[in-house]
Amino acid sequence: MKHNEFNTDVREEYLPYGRQWIDDADIEEVIKVLKSDYLTTGPAVARFEKAVSEYVGAKYAVAFSSGTASLHGACFAAGIGEGDEVITSPMTFAASANCVLYVGGKPVFADIDKVTYNIDPSQVEKAITEKTKAIIPVHFTGQPADMDKLHKIAEKHNLIVIEDAAHALGATYKGEKIGSLSDMTMFSFHPVKHITSGEGGIITTNDKEYYEKMLQFRSHGITRDPEKLIDNHGPWYYEMQFLGFNYRMTDIQAALGESQLKKIDTFIDRRKKYVAMYNHSFSNLEEIEIPFQNENGASSWHLYIIRLISEKLSVSRKEIFEELVNNNIGVNVHYIPVHLLPYYSKLGYHKGICPQSEKLYEEIITLPLFSAMTEKDIEDVITSVNNVINKYRK
Ligand SMILES: *Cc1c(COP(=O)(O)O)cnc(C)c1O
Repeated sequence: MKHNEFNTDVREEYLPYGRQWIDDADIEEVIKVLKSDYLTTGPAVARFEKAVSEYVGAKYAVAFSSGTASLHGACFAAGIGEGDEVITSPMTFAASANCVLYVGGKPVFADIDKVTYNIDPSQVEKAITEKTKAIIPVHFTGQPADMDKLHKIAEKHNLIVIEDAAHALGATYKGEKIGSLSDMTMFSFHPVKHITSGEGGIITTNDKEYYEKMLQFRSHGITRDPEKLIDNHGPWYYEMQFLGFNYRMTDIQAALGESQLKKIDTFIDRRKKYVAMYNHSFSNLEEIEIPFQNENGASSWHLYIIRLISEKLSVSRKEIFEELVNNNIGVNVHYIPVHLLPYYSKLGYHKGICPQSEKLYEEIITLPLFSAMTEKDIEDVITSVNNVINKYRK
């Protein structure tokens, strides 16, 4: 890999940090649905659920209108409610904790490990009380969390484990695909994730009871299953047995998702190739810490995050961020720790409860990484980062 040392030109086009990759085959599949009898939940949703469950090696899958709705469904199926505490990482998107609030539970934040950026099992252990009902580990950036330790803790304290694998479709833990290791696992199909359905999410599980509960939950709590009905007035009869939502995925979304899933291996290979290019270039820069790598290449690389060593730089993260944006490099910061968001402050969470996450938040920048990028795009990012670091090296 080489880049032109003399080229300080700014990219002409803004490069986002992530975006979808839709091809003609995807478009064909969506058009087929538009010409068919079903637009909402029909045969394409069932096919997509089967394809995802087979891909990750789980028995069941329930598709939802979003990853967030999926997490809500999982928390409901797990029986989380008023007074229950659920432990999750603060270094995540708000949805990982919001889902606990939706069902009346209380999110409890356990700090991250400063090397892997994933939830630290020893912090999880410390956060457990007699009210703890579940753990929601997040496979941050696609790097699997320490599931053996987390499962051990869960077993010891009789906790349900719901994995937030929004970043981790195709990631493996000790050789096994993420998606069948815990009680339930959530994947998101938002356009910046590995594959997209426009909006959409899914829960995979091996538990029939959770599966059936989520099917009913995503459609108002209504069932027509004769075995589940309390009464039966006739062939038109259905029952709403609990308060559910309309969280259904449409066949339009599912057809796109199914077509995208066929390309997942290529998508991940390209992400890995680009990560290798970034690592190769940035490992020469003392001012940057490159992300943790599991030696068996288990990450599915949703995000590429660099950590700036502030003592070695003459300007702040904010200035470096702004300069990269001015170079048309679409950088981002993942994430503002959830407990620092104003709504969570109002609930009583405050700075100081997760120092590792708070420190990391001050130092990180997410660089563009998505499968539709070209090598030229990657080289542009590398050039810009090198230029900015060289300019502000102490
Ligand atoms: C994207 C994401 C979600 C939510 O998924 P949506 O499909 O956008 O609702 C949840 N958790 C994490 C970590 C995410 O990145």
